[in-house]
Amino acid sequence: MINITAELSDQDRQLIHQSKIFKGVNIEDLCHLIAECELFAIASGQTLIYADTHNEYFYVLLTGSMKVYLDAELIEQSIPILPGDCVGEVSLFDGANTSAEVVAASNCRILRINEETLWRLVRASHSFARNLLFILAKRLRNDNVAIINGFRHQQELETIANVDGLTGLFNRRWMNEFFKRQIGRALNDNKPLALILADLDHFKNINDVHGHMVGDEVLFAVASVLTKQIRPTDLLARFGGEEFAMILPDTSPDEAKIIAERVRTAIESTKLEFENDVTQEIRITLSLGVSNLMLGDDINNLLTRADHALYQAKKNGRNRVEVG
Ligand code: GH3
Ligand code: MG
Ligand code: MG
Repeated sequence: MINITAELSDQDRQLIHQSKIFKGVNIEDLCHLIAECELFAIASGQTLIYADTHNEYFYVLLTGSMKVYLDAELIEQSIPILPGDCVGEVSLFDGANTSAEVVAASNCRILRINEETLWRLVRASHSFARNLLFILAKRLRNDNVAIINGFRHQQELETIANVDGLTGLFNRRWMNEFFKRQIGRALNDNKPLALILADLDHFKNINDVHGHMVGDEVLFAVASVLTKQIRPTDLLARFGGEEFAMILPDTSPDEAKIIAERVRTAIESTKLEFENDVTQEIRITLSLGVSNLMLGDDINNLLTRADHALYQAKKNGRNRVEVG
C-alpha cells in the first residue's frame, strides 16, 4: 500500500476530483484530510471485500473496474463498479457484516478512507456530505428495486409451479389446493358442487399416426375448446397427460350433466387442422365422468367417483358422459 501524500500525482488528484463522492469538493482545502487516506493497487481477480466480514473502510475506485457479487459462489449476476464509484459505505455505517463480495475485474487503483476520516470529511465539506447522502439514497432506491424484482421473481416461480407449460391451464398441483377450498366452501354454504374428469379417446393413436408434436398441438387445441365451454366461475385444469378436470361450483347434478354433454359435443364437432407437410384434419372425442358433492365428501372420494364414472364411459363405448 502506498501512502497517498508521497504518491498523489496530478492524475490521481484529477481522478479523485471526478469521483462521485468528491464531486464539487475543493480537495485543495481538504489536503490535510486527504493525506489521511490511503491509495493502493490491487490486481485483477483479487478480492477487495469478502462477504460476511467486518468492514471499516469506504473505498473509492479511481481506475480499473470491480464486480460486486451478491452470492458467495460468485456465479450469480454481478454489479459492475466503475471508476468514480464507491463501495463499503453500507457496512461501514450500519456496522453489520458485509453482504456482498467485491472483486477486482481488472487491475485497480483504489482510495481507502477510514471511518474517522470519512466523518471529518463530512464535517469539513458540505459538498462531500451531500454527495454521501446522494450515494446512500441511490443505494436505497436500488435495494428497493431489487426487493420488488425479487418479489416478482417469486411470483413468477409460483406461477410456473402452478401452470401447465403445454396448455397454459392450471396443473393438478394447483387444482388440488383450489379444490380443497372449493369443497370446504360448498359444504359450509350448503351449496352444490360438481367435478368432471375428461379423458381424450384413443389419444395414443394420434401420437402413433401423426407424431408426438401433433399430439401436443391437439392437447393445446382441446384445452382452448374446453376453456370456451366453461363459465367464469368454473375451473379447468390439466389433470394429467390427456386428462382434464373441471370444477363447477354452485352447480346441481342436472346442470353438471348438461355441461358435460355440451363439452363432449363441442370436442366431437371440432375439426382440428394441422400442417404437417400437408394439411391434415384430425377429429377427436372425449369421455367424461361426473361426480357431485355429497355430505361428508372430501377431495379424494369425489375424485374417485368421477374417475369411476369416467372408466364406465370408456367401457360403454367412449365419447360419452357417465355420472358416478
Ligand atoms: P383411452 O381412450 O382408453 O383413453 O385411450 P388413450 O390412447 O387415450 O389412453 P392411453 O392411456 O393408452 O394413452 C394416453 C396417451 O397420451 C399415451 C401418452 O403418450 C399420451 N400423452 C400423455 N401426455 C402427452 C403429452 O403431453 N403430449 C403428447 N403428445 N402425448 C401425451
Ligand atoms: Mg388417460
Ligand atoms: Mg385417453
